[in-house]
Amino acid sequence: MQRLAIISYHTSPLVQPGTGEGGGMNVYVKQLASALARLGISCDVYTRAYSPTLPACVTVEPGFVLHHLPAGPLSELTKPDLLEHVSEFTENVLERIRMNPGQLPDAIHANYWLSGIVGHALKHALEVPLITTFHTLEKVKAKDRAVPDDEISENLRMEEESRIIYCSDQVLASCEVEADEISTLYDLDRSRISIVPLGVDHAFFSPGNRDMARRAIGLPTRGKMVLFVGRIQPLKGADIAVRSFARIASRVPDAFLAMVGGPSGPFGNDEILKIKSIVAKERLNKKVYFFDPQPHEVLSSFYRAANVCLVPSRTESFGLVALEAAACGVPVVASNVGGLKTLVVHGSSGYLVTDRTAGEFARYLVKVLEDPSLARPLQVAASSLSTSYRWRDSALRLQQVLVGLTAKELLECG
Ligand code: UDP
Repeated sequence: MQRLAIISYHTSPLVQPGTGEGGGMNVYVKQLASALARLGISCDVYTRAYSPTLPACVTVEPGFVLHHLPAGPLSELTKPDLLEHVSEFTENVLERIRMNPGQLPDAIHANYWLSGIVGHALKHALEVPLITTFHTLEKVKAKDRAVPDDEISENLRMEEESRIIYCSDQVLASCEVEADEISTLYDLDRSRISIVPLGVDHAFFSPGNRDMARRAIGLPTRGKMVLFVGRIQPLKGADIAVRSFARIASRVPDAFLAMVGGPSGPFGNDEILKIKSIVAKERLNKKVYFFDPQPHEVLSSFYRAANVCLVPSRTESFGLVALEAAACGVPVVASNVGGLKTLVVHGSSGYLVTDRTAGEFARYLVKVLEDPSLARPLQVAASSLSTSYRWRDSALRLQQVLVGLTAKELLECG
């Protein structure tokens, strides 16, 4: 295996994560492509050009080239509009690939269902294996939906995801929990699913001096800091973070909450208004600090500054924020869902909350913040757990999957 075509149609690995469509998938594509390139696998990442000022190609590092290809207007598009331009994008990827007949890919790696549609077509056009990482699946989200999704997601997305799954030579899952979910919901044989855990860049995300970190980001050095990081949208439960903080604010009077992230998806702006109204109603304006999305590397100072990180997501296929916090030695209080079940060891590196209510999150927040005998062991366990997650290991695992596939016949579309 020498060359991999990675499809990241709807969002570029170089955009700022933490707002809009930018999140864990962007970090994943960038870090995995870098780590694969360092193993000697050339990665061409194909993404949609969302601005007229973007160069056609960017060499991110040796062996990792990002291609911006037009599909529809050269501007940001919503998901329904993106769907309209998938075929145009597919044609443009094919044309770009065929411009260099000596550099045809040995496999396609599609990310998210929209790229899965592209990858599925490319598999048949180029007759190479298709590997898909879904990041989120509509059937998983639908299991526990408190708010309606848009129509596209509920109908077309579900159908497309099934089509892509049954034609993927391998589906990648980030952990056993996700693999089980995919296997059960799609009745897919486990041999068709490979676990490739995500990683964390320990060069940035590592324990450090809390006071210095707080000074660097302009937060008080005194007091207990509760942190929430992520795209603000109903799925992420930022409202639960604020409500649970409101419950402990008078009991732990020196505590404050830092919220890092920007609106995402069709309900993102409403979610921000909701959170700000809770803050105002609970009279917490002086105790809740809002920050715009931060460059990935700068975020490490936010983790180091914190006493605890809250991850109250409704669903989470992996949960990079929980892993990054742990790598900085910060205990995590997270929902007991998806990949978070793997990334938090209940009672050791943090706490998993099964009853996803502000009251339950507050109960564990108090435990972490008020019991001084717990703080150190939690920090040590969190940081130690994170050491088994490295992007190089993710790339090595994916390399094994790729080698296995080149030895097999292409899976028939089923
Ligand atoms: N992130 C960031 N800056 C921000 C907020 C988030 O770099 O201001 C990154 C964060 O470090 C993590 C990713 O965005 O790597 C979010 O991934 P996660 O798996 O937690 O959630 P997702 O966005 O995939 O739902």
